[in-house]
Amino acid sequence: MFALVDVNNFYASCERLFEPRLEGVAVVVLSNNDGCIIARSQEAKDLGIPMGEPVHKVKDVLRRERVRVYSSNYALYGDLSGRVVSVLKRFTPYLEVYSIDESFLDLGGFTDPAAHSHDIKDTVLRWTGLPVSVGVGATKTLAKAANRIAKKDPALGGVFIMPDDPDEVLGNLNTDAIWGIGRRLAARLDRIGITTALDLKNADSKFIRARFSVVVERTVLELRGTPCLALEMTVPAQKGIMVSRGFSRRVTDYRDIEAAVATYASRAAEKLRRQGLSTNKMTISLRTSPFSPAPERYANAAGFVFPEATSDTTHMIKAARHCLKKIYKPGLPYQKAGVFLDALEDTRRIQRGLFPPPGVDPDKSRALMKAVDRINADWGRNTVRFAVTGMQRSWAMKQNRKSPCYTTRWQDLKQVGG
Ligand SMILES: [Mg+2]
Repeated sequence: MFALVDVNNFYASCERLFEPRLEGVAVVVLSNNDGCIIARSQEAKDLGIPMGEPVHKVKDVLRRERVRVYSSNYALYGDLSGRVVSVLKRFTPYLEVYSIDESFLDLGGFTDPAAHSHDIKDTVLRWTGLPVSVGVGATKTLAKAANRIAKKDPALGGVFIMPDDPDEVLGNLNTDAIWGIGRRLAARLDRIGITTALDLKNADSKFIRARFSVVVERTVLELRGTPCLALEMTVPAQKGIMVSRGFSRRVTDYRDIEAAVATYASRAAEKLRRQGLSTNKMTISLRTSPFSPAPERYANAAGFVFPEATSDTTHMIKAARHCLKKIYKPGLPYQKAGVFLDALEDTRRIQRGLFPPPGVDPDKSRALMKAVDRINADWGRNTVRFAVTGMQRSWAMKQNRKSPCYTTRWQDLKQVGG
């Protein structure tokens, strides 16, 4: 038996956690560069503010209804997500972190899943302050559906257990409410008379496989209570690391772009080190807006292969500048740059070259990076950084409405009383 535990309106709930006056107030969170709405509190949903809507299109509603608007604060969300998972792990070690705010738990062996689910929900709320909904079912697909029902109907108190005979419940769910069935697929199913989850459950699975795919066939079986998807407890090794961001304005000056690319390379190197990884290959990409007039439309990328796998920021920045020089064309209004690292390997198992690259002392480099990471962890990101990453940073992403990093920066720690 599976449970899906999902934080309600995760980003909005995180923002609310340290600002109790936001309780009962409509809150929305914006995407990078403050472009679109990517999370809404229940109150914001009730106002009819659509998900994914560009913020300028709903400006009037936001102002009229005094909606509180936040830039996304991934340091805060990531940290709170980790707290929720650590609470869930006290209930069972058989857990799959499915996304930043969703985890599957294997409840096999528990005699009273309802009581257990309520306990999970109450404990997460008490210990982290975040409201979750719990859905339970014989398969992951049924648990997902149960969770959706738990969230939709406040009378259920945040927990829904799919009954042993789920037909009545599934008869009231449209196919697009089912995990993995998107709107387009739902429309195709609809055309052959499959409109509800119950219709899909009762469809001929072989026909579904032939007409659609083995993935949809699997969904049919899962709806029937036959588990086809196991708990994935090991995190698959990361294949690549990408740091790519749009600029807040069009940028032409080489120094500015160099600073941006160096900043992204530093971020990517930090991510590498945090996972104990090193990279063999870097790719730098640069482009103008795909909507700009033809003479200004430009996109290019250049790669660099390191002589020996590395996670040293100094090497990253050097390589990034080397690549950038190859693809930068003067005079163009650039919109976005990115750094991609691949061919990653475990730093402890790096294949050393017979002749170490000149100027590289792996021990010294590792000690320096350790010191840099330590200082930045204790004193906040970018306390020490490389000069080439720039001082003014007028190109940096717009995040005008970001809340403090309450849980990851000493300076942002919430003060009580005093
Ligand atoms: Mg959620």
